[in-house]
Amino acid sequence: MRQLWIDGRWIPGLTGDAIAVHDPATEEIIDTVPAGGPADVAAAVAAASRAFDTWRRTPAVTRAELIHEIAARLTARTDELAALLTREGGKPLVENRDEIGWSAACFRYYAELGRHSRGRVIPSIEASQLSLVLKEPYGVVGTIVPWNYPILLMAWKVAPALAAGNTVVLKPSEMTPLSALACAAIFEHLPPGVVNIVTGYGAAAGEPLVTDARVRVIAFTGSLETGRRIARLASDQMKKLHLELGGKDAFIVAEDANLEVAVPGVAWASLLNAGQVCTGTERVYVHERIAPAFVERIADYARSLRLGSGLDPHTDIGPMIGPTYRAKVEAHVEDARARGARIVTGGRRPPGMGSGYFYEPTVLTGVDHSMRIMREETFGPTIPIMTFRTLDEAIALANDSPFGLGANLYSYDARTVKRFYEEVQAGTLWVNDPLTDNDAGPFGGMKLSGLGRELGEEGLDEFRQTKHLHWDFEGEAKPWWYPYGREG
Ligand code: NAD
Repeated sequence: MRQLWIDGRWIPGLTGDAIAVHDPATEEIIDTVPAGGPADVAAAVAAASRAFDTWRRTPAVTRAELIHEIAARLTARTDELAALLTREGGKPLVENRDEIGWSAACFRYYAELGRHSRGRVIPSIEASQLSLVLKEPYGVVGTIVPWNYPILLMAWKVAPALAAGNTVVLKPSEMTPLSALACAAIFEHLPPGVVNIVTGYGAAAGEPLVTDARVRVIAFTGSLETGRRIARLASDQMKKLHLELGGKDAFIVAEDANLEVAVPGVAWASLLNAGQVCTGTERVYVHERIAPAFVERIADYARSLRLGSGLDPHTDIGPMIGPTYRAKVEAHVEDARARGARIVTGGRRPPGMGSGYFYEPTVLTGVDHSMRIMREETFGPTIPIMTFRTLDEAIALANDSPFGLGANLYSYDARTVKRFYEEVQAGTLWVNDPLTDNDAGPFGGMKLSGLGRELGEEGLDEFRQTKHLHWDFEGEAKPWWYPYGREG
């Protein structure tokens, strides 16, 4: 069994219990990790609290150099980490190599942003005074991440948290703990306790992190249901919360869209990582004039994609992460079929693939907003398509969701784009370039998709608290009613 990374050392889990890690392409057990419990979390938080004392005083320039070194170590381990991500998470190797590259870029971005971060001097009340707006770290940050982009979503939290001077306890998903533990190698040059990694289930290891009073921030990515539970648990201590939750992203394909671009673009946005992307497209609205050609071409495109193990270089789409996630997709497709939707292609497990949690890329038409597939997060390789006549209609449909993570548009008409970005309620809007993240661009959800922003300057500010210093150099005795005085 693997061990936990606490205080710069490998130590056995205190519960003695194990979590079996599966390869979703074969359903075989590939390794076991400790099922950490409250005592393991307490030890990690204690180490992070001790380390905070020195890390917060470490000059930003030194911290920046150490964070650049994290990026260099990540890059040097690309092959090893990408292979682990594919074994435990199923994504094709080429996508996991990208994930490592993006993660390293994120560490580089925050190394530099941390080096250049600053407070403000503001006007003071009197000439003998100085007023400063200071930014300082919170302390110990608990980061809880899901299985779909385990290293990238860790980087989006750990990089800004460290750059701002916080220390970290990381709790990875119980389904992808191996890549997280392998990341100890990218943190081992940091002072002990600055980053700690505790594997375990949500209830046994995640909740103690949320309720530990020494942890001042919880940075979480995962489902709405877990986010709500975390928010309730954290409220007693008024903990700073950063929540990146689920989505139901819309893609509007306007009348002027170029199908040569839009067909592969919408397919990619919907089917990437077998549709298990928080900003994956889950609802497609196509202008009625181009809809017949669009449907025919995207169905052909979906049929041409090769399913298989992510380790096979010819694979386009790997397995889903596990049986319950696939069962949800099957339930959504069945619900749509029962209510009159047409399955243009897919809608089943691929015949002839005995093991692995595979599901065929599925294109549906004749769907409407009464169906689960258009209302709830499906998180699978589905492309449900509705048509629209006017832009008003398309925007109303896109906004008819409790979620507001991202939204996409294909159009080259400035008036269409303007209405899209002014009226669609989502944290990230992509026009003609779906799902492209930019380290400098804030990322996060509106409505039920979350609180706060990752990436960009906003992403650093999530991990810094504000102090106002009011300093009078003279400090003279003042009358009782100073500074306003009282007449008479
Ligand atoms: P999940 O909520 O089941 O688990 C996420 C993490 O939370 C895991 O580490 C899990 O162990 C932990 N957890 C579970 N219960 C907990 C509890 N009671 N207390 C503390 N921690 C707990 O989500 P998942 O299935 O791993 O991931 C898929 C979900 O994540 C989808 O809904 C997807 O949309 C969302 N997601 C969102 C973003 C985003 O940026 N908004 C990115 C990726 C994934």
